[in-house]
Amino acid sequence: MTDTETFLDGLFDAGVLIDTGVEGLYARSGRFEAIIEGIDAVVSAVGGGDGAEVLRFPPGMNRQVFEKTGYMKNFPQLAGTVHCFCGDDAGHAEIIAALDEGRDWAGQQALSEIALTPAACYPLYPLAARRGPLPEDGRLFDILSYCFRHEPSKEATRMQMFRMREFVRMGTPDDVMAFRERWIERGAGIVKTLGLEGAVDLANDPFFGRAGRILKNNQRQQNLKFEMLIPVESQEKPTACMSFNYHQDHFGTLWGLKTADGAVAHTACVGFGMERLALALLKVHGLSADRWPAPVRKVLGV
Ligand code: AMP
Ligand code: ZN
Repeated sequence: MTDTETFLDGLFDAGVLIDTGVEGLYARSGRFEAIIEGIDAVVSAVGGGDGAEVLRFPPGMNRQVFEKTGYMKNFPQLAGTVHCFCGDDAGHAEIIAALDEGRDWAGQQALSEIALTPAACYPLYPLAARRGPLPEDGRLFDILSYCFRHEPSKEATRMQMFRMREFVRMGTPDDVMAFRERWIERGAGIVKTLGLEGAVDLANDPFFGRAGRILKNNQRQQNLKFEMLIPVESQEKPTACMSFNYHQDHFGTLWGLKTADGAVAHTACVGFGMERLALALLKVHGLSADRWPAPVRKVLGV
């Protein structure tokens, strides 16, 4: 890597990630995927004994759920929705003419039933609520989804499409707070196991606009979001590679999710940015996994 070359250029040159011509949208090499699989296995080894119910989601979610979750209200700048053509021959002819003439053809597209999933846990809450009140000791899920956020960037760690593995706890406030505390400790353990250095810090979500500023402040004042920050792109601005979120009764109220004794359920989630953790390893230990420290290679199986 030359002095002027970015981390992303280095990853392209080494064939770890492959450029598609769109910032934040990359093909993954076999070597990169082997690292992701290793991280997935480490996370499973740490959380695997808790008896979580495993669910894997496709990268799109029910648009009505997406709307009710308030994503367009809070994060319109990041949202991605799927639009489809449902027109007739005249509409089709218009698309072809627009394409031929280099004009915008989106006028013939309409919102479909699907939105791109912005966070792995959003599709989960209504699905859990549909089952009725939680059992006595609540519920625990182990989920994973490709997520979409429209934040094109030259920083390798800021992708538009990336995987988020999460554990989600539903129960009483005590249940979910204890869960989050446990995972903050476990997260630090995982970082150490991977031979990385990170620090947990208070954080907020990127709520949009002027009204969003109040929401960001509230989230911080109430200690609702913590992140595991690891230097990847730079030492000065470390990258959030895990997040530990307490939603209070937000999703419980929204979806009518109740505890066994009829109270509104509280929820918390821990999210692992799979690509960001892989990129942290590549940055710290180098682009060739076969030269990584032996204990790190062993734990990842690379
Ligand atoms: P968040 O819901 O923003 O806390 O995201 C959960 C986790 O997903 C973060 O801790 C990151 O590790 C990861 N993540 C968020 N945004 C991106 C992105 N644009 N590219 C890659 N990973 C991301
Ligand atoms: Zn979540």
